[in-house]
Amino acid sequence: MILKSRIFQGARLALMGLAAIACSPSVEEAPREATLEPDPPHQCDFCERLNEPTEPFRIYGDTYYVGTAMISSVLIASDDGLVLVNGGMTQTAQQIADNIKTLGFSLSELKLIVNTHAHFDHAGGIAALARATGATVATSTRGAEALEQGRPTEDDPQRGLEDNVFPVVPEVRVVADGGTVSAGGIDLTAHYTPAHTPGSVAWTWRSCEDGECLDVVFADSFSTRSAPEFRFTDAEGRIENFRSAIATVAALPCDILLAPSPLSFGVKEKLAARAENPEPNPFIDPAACRTYAEAATAGLDKRIAEEQAAQ
Ligand SMILES: [Zn+2]
Repeated sequence: MILKSRIFQGARLALMGLAAIACSPSVEEAPREATLEPDPPHQCDFCERLNEPTEPFRIYGDTYYVGTAMISSVLIASDDGLVLVNGGMTQTAQQIADNIKTLGFSLSELKLIVNTHAHFDHAGGIAALARATGATVATSTRGAEALEQGRPTEDDPQRGLEDNVFPVVPEVRVVADGGTVSAGGIDLTAHYTPAHTPGSVAWTWRSCEDGECLDVVFADSFSTRSAPEFRFTDAEGRIENFRSAIATVAALPCDILLAPSPLSFGVKEKLAARAENPEPNPFIDPAACRTYAEAATAGLDKRIAEEQAAQ
């Protein structure tokens, strides 16, 4: 399939080149490759580890993994454009661009970037990727607020962590809860899941392979990591929102689960299983969203118990 898309891509570029030559007197007017100018690298003790490269690969159908070994970014590719979910850290943007190219696609075809939550490790590369391509950036109302100020919102559990900052994304399109954003014939639906951040979103789309279309869910993190002084039990409604966000993900039509951390949906194990036996595709698991939700509930319960014990 990757080979097929590369051949198709090559043929398409050749046709585009012919069209450009036929329609214009100068070759300069042929489509240009996007040039990425990354923002300065984010500094943190574990950043190097987070940014460790890994080979891009096809997950299923038109859905590909283009992130690092520790931070997920996912590409959805159609003949009419590319969509990216999450942009890693500032220093991840170049890897994402390189991975897109390795898969046989052109960065200049990136039309839309959506974000699951606005922290330095999933939103840091978005500004540079959007500048290079002119892609629309879209997320939830509160997520847009954070992206446009280059730091988490006031009520974000990690607001007090001073190094959780990232380059400002000047213009962000807000997608309502349950709303859809489309690019290149790809439709993504936003499901608000205010938990890890107030603006967290799960994105869903359909991905098809050999005529079989499946429901893909890119759920957000349910990690309760926070600034030291933050307490989930302090603000009224926060725990209820968290539980309701978990329930939202558990109830989604879900054949394939993806998430901001590749560790949380077993990428390494699934690739090892696929190397042993490519069929059935180990990324297909209709129970995955419910299992993810159970782990999230256990994590939240543990956090609540810790906060109560510390009182
Ligand atoms: Zn985060």
